[in-house]
Amino acid sequence: MSHDAWTAQTLDKMPTAEIMALASARRDAHWGRRVTYSRKVFVPLTNMCRDTCSYCTFVKHPSDPAAQIMTPDQVLAEARKGEAQGCKELLFSLGEKPELRYATARQALKHLGYDKMTDYLADMCALVLRETSLLPHVNAGTLAEDEIARLRPVAASMGMMLETISRRLTRPGMPHHACPDKVPLQRLRTLDRTGAQAVPFTTGLLIGIGETWDERIEALQAINAAHERHGHIQEVIIQNFQRKPDIAMAKHPEPALDDMLRTIAAARLILSPDISLQAPPNLHKRHVAYLQAGINDWGGISPVTIDYINPGHDWPEITKLADGCAQSGFDLCERLTVYPRFISARSAYLDPGLAARIAAMARGDGLARSQQLEAAE
Ligand code: SF4
Repeated sequence: MSHDAWTAQTLDKMPTAEIMALASARRDAHWGRRVTYSRKVFVPLTNMCRDTCSYCTFVKHPSDPAAQIMTPDQVLAEARKGEAQGCKELLFSLGEKPELRYATARQALKHLGYDKMTDYLADMCALVLRETSLLPHVNAGTLAEDEIARLRPVAASMGMMLETISRRLTRPGMPHHACPDKVPLQRLRTLDRTGAQAVPFTTGLLIGIGETWDERIEALQAINAAHERHGHIQEVIIQNFQRKPDIAMAKHPEPALDDMLRTIAAARLILSPDISLQAPPNLHKRHVAYLQAGINDWGGISPVTIDYINPGHDWPEITKLADGCAQSGFDLCERLTVYPRFISARSAYLDPGLAARIAAMARGDGLARSQQLEAAE
């Protein structure tokens, strides 16, 4: 069955075990019995944001003493910790354009010598490239064409969760109300804009924030359509909503395991097989079931920093994760932030200034040259 023949209705009628078996076979055919991860250090460049998603625990209002923009020295200090632990990726994660909403954010940026957060981000990526061996990956949310062009020469890859395609969730009382960057059209535009500039791109869905099954399938189809236009989607993350005491959705139910497995398996069937399918390993304890549902990647795992987006959920120890994968018949391998099929010294998906450097970090099959499954000394 071709991937565009999978509709919400067809999938809805199938038992979970049947969808999982088909998804698992599709994963095996394209990715084999190898599951990957990226050894990364996480740098939350700013925790201020002009949006106010009801499930977010990362964001801090500028009046909160914990609100901040990291200085270049702080960025470098985190980068060096990551380098010492064998990381190869530096993930810049940040709130969306806080300077457009808050005077405090504008003043803090001005103090650093900038008017726009994306300009500061680009210079911090350049600093990391200059001073360390790490490859920056940026999660900067929605981006305009000129912002993508500014970041592309200094970021090996970029990402932005589509999260959902539901406009319903932007209405009053819903999780994305009054969040200009969570209007689905804006996020779909970023998917296409990064595709038009050939940026290896990560996106994904957030499951359990009030979207329907049909809306999930529609979101997966929209991601796949963007990939068919540009070929740039390197991975799709299926992430489960996590209830936390300090969020507006503190009483909202988390998605059930069966719901997650059905969605992961549906994603594997709908998405082009060359798109990697990822689920974070720290947001659930069902690693074997997730592998059986068709994933082939665990995403970034940090031996240095916590998961700032889900601070109560520790990363698994990489050696333990490797053991668990082996018991299910999978080899855990380290990859770079850029997936193998985009890597070559003349890749159209890599800036000429970065391509040779990235290619030199990859072994023949495109995965990380120095595989590091254990803690560095
Ligand atoms: S856009 Fe991201 S950082 Fe901003 S409030 Fe929403 S989830 Fe949090």
